[in-house]
Amino acid sequence: MTSLQPALPDHIKKLSDDDVHRLIAESRTKLGSQCVILGHHYQRDEVIRHADHTGDSLKLARIARDLPGTPNIIFCGVHFMAETADILTSPQQQVSLPDLEAGCEMADMAETWDVDAAWHEALAAGAGKIVPVTYINSKASLKAFVGDHGGTICTSGNAREVIDWALVRGEHLFFFPDQHLGRNICKAMGFNPDTDMLLWDPKKPLGGHTPEKIRNTRIWLWQGHCPVHALFTLHQIKKLRVEKPAVKIIVHPECSMEVADAADLSGSTEQIIKAIEASPSGTIWAVGTEKHLVERLAQNNPDKEILSLNPYTCLCGTMNRITARHLAWVLDDLVQGRPLRNQITVDEKTSLSSRVALDRMFNLH
Ligand code: SF4
Repeated sequence: MTSLQPALPDHIKKLSDDDVHRLIAESRTKLGSQCVILGHHYQRDEVIRHADHTGDSLKLARIARDLPGTPNIIFCGVHFMAETADILTSPQQQVSLPDLEAGCEMADMAETWDVDAAWHEALAAGAGKIVPVTYINSKASLKAFVGDHGGTICTSGNAREVIDWALVRGEHLFFFPDQHLGRNICKAMGFNPDTDMLLWDPKKPLGGHTPEKIRNTRIWLWQGHCPVHALFTLHQIKKLRVEKPAVKIIVHPECSMEVADAADLSGSTEQIIKAIEASPSGTIWAVGTEKHLVERLAQNNPDKEILSLNPYTCLCGTMNRITARHLAWVLDDLVQGRPLRNQITVDEKTSLSSRVALDRMFNLH
């Protein structure tokens, strides 16, 4: 298979770890306001220590939108996040993803041509007005589809408000690509997962349902999921409650419904951080989200016991591709006067339609 990512050059490969960090720091000083580094919470520590801003995808998207004077944005995250930053910034700004193979498996589960085919099948089956909503963890082309069809974007932090918005505007909500986020939030809003929701399997005609079922079901959930959050289980929760009866369990809503239901709390990455920081000293937390964030929470809250709900590694393998060496390489190129490496550019038509969908979300706040 051909790699999207060019190999790191020898002069970067040969540096010691200390020299890599020194090169990043020196390059940052030389570049000043010419660049900003955004770091997602799931990034490695060796990368996050150099970030000017850290956050989840919504927070970083907002920061990118509000940086009109910064020509170079280096997005240490995954592909859809860099796309979102490109959509939200001006044509004079460029966005780089330090490793082009840092994708998102969940986003890849909802290809826009499959969504388009499903949409037309549903209409042919006699469905009423459909309002599409996509989680921000999706490709720019799907965001554009949603924008063109009267829908919007949500994040794990605002999904309830966005779904509420969609449900008053249509007879059906079509939610992409994360079935678990959609199911967990709709259930918390009072909908019955068995009777009010269906799971749309893109490999089957009509998602695997009869036309009658499609017409009579309010919420359609696309069959996508996050492989990282799928690794948390009900068994782990039951075991931990026996071993540590005082434990408080907090999980991301990308976890399955049985896990979210059995946890004490469920929330977005930013909500998890706030809940743990606000808890009294001595609290024992088991956290159901990506490993780097859980380890950082443990480091930053030494007065609490913080562990991963899954005792084995649950890391986002694609997010983890970006290393300090990639960052050093991108910055060094800029210092040498070369164009920004690994630019992520969304075409104008896709960008305009995606922007419509994103602005609908921003206008809800
Ligand atoms: S943690 Fe899951 S949803 Fe997030 S970037 Fe990785 S694969 Fe995608």
